[in-house]
Amino acid sequence: MGLELYYSPEPPDGGTLIIRGSEAGHIARVMRHKVGNVIGVVDGVGTEYEVELTEVRADRVAGRVLSTRSGAREPKHRVTIAQAVLKGDRLAQVCEQATELGVSRVIPIQTARTVGRLSAVRLERLRTVSLAALKSSTRTVLPKIDAVTGLGELLTAVNEFGQALVAYEEERGPGLGEVLDRKAGSVLLVVGPEGGFEPSEIDALKAAGAVSFSLGPRRLRAETAAVAVAAMTLGLLGDLG
Ligand code: SAH
Repeated sequence: MGLELYYSPEPPDGGTLIIRGSEAGHIARVMRHKVGNVIGVVDGVGTEYEVELTEVRADRVAGRVLSTRSGAREPKHRVTIAQAVLKGDRLAQVCEQATELGVSRVIPIQTARTVGRLSAVRLERLRTVSLAALKSSTRTVLPKIDAVTGLGELLTAVNEFGQALVAYEEERGPGLGEVLDRKAGSVLLVVGPEGGFEPSEIDALKAAGAVSFSLGPRRLRAETAAVAVAAMTLGLLGDLG
């Protein structure tokens, strides 16, 4: 797909698709598109349109839908990362890279040793970064970025996933490849904060049905662990490479 991709959640009406806001500004002012040019538009929930522009203004772009396609370039498996909130911009880095890799959802979690804070502004930034990554990676489904969720709340949601796995820095047993169930359909991957997990948190996750795994003998930064875990999981499931 060689077309530039833009995002518009608004469904087409009678074969006409409208793009508003900053995306319209980008098309008109930055890319200087003209009537008659053809662009790609994704709706963030799996549909992609090829659109011939019929009107180009900085606040509103309209076009005629030439073709429609569903679910293109999306992974077959649903991979969710529950990442403890991190300091600075590191959670944004996780959201960006996880989106590119094909992760379906990121749940920022609050754990005992979480020191980073996620304000409403920062949460909005995570979503903005994820949207930019959707376009640059040509995905068609925008990952869901949840509001901050307490570990206790996450425990009650564990059974909504086909399987739940937790990267535990003290685990000396199995690696991801040994515990990943290739047939589960959806997987929740839990990664701790800079200070790691309390043993009681791992016990609680296990009691809720999660399985812990090791990423090897080296200690990884949390954001490195999250991206490694996302890439390995999608790779092992056949959705990467
Ligand atoms: N401060 C902790 C390290 C935390 S690393 C310590 O001193 O041990 C942050 C998170 O990344 C961990 O909670 C875990 O989820 C993940 N992680 C990092 N290295 C890991 C490894 N070798 N195996 C499994 N998980 C790891």
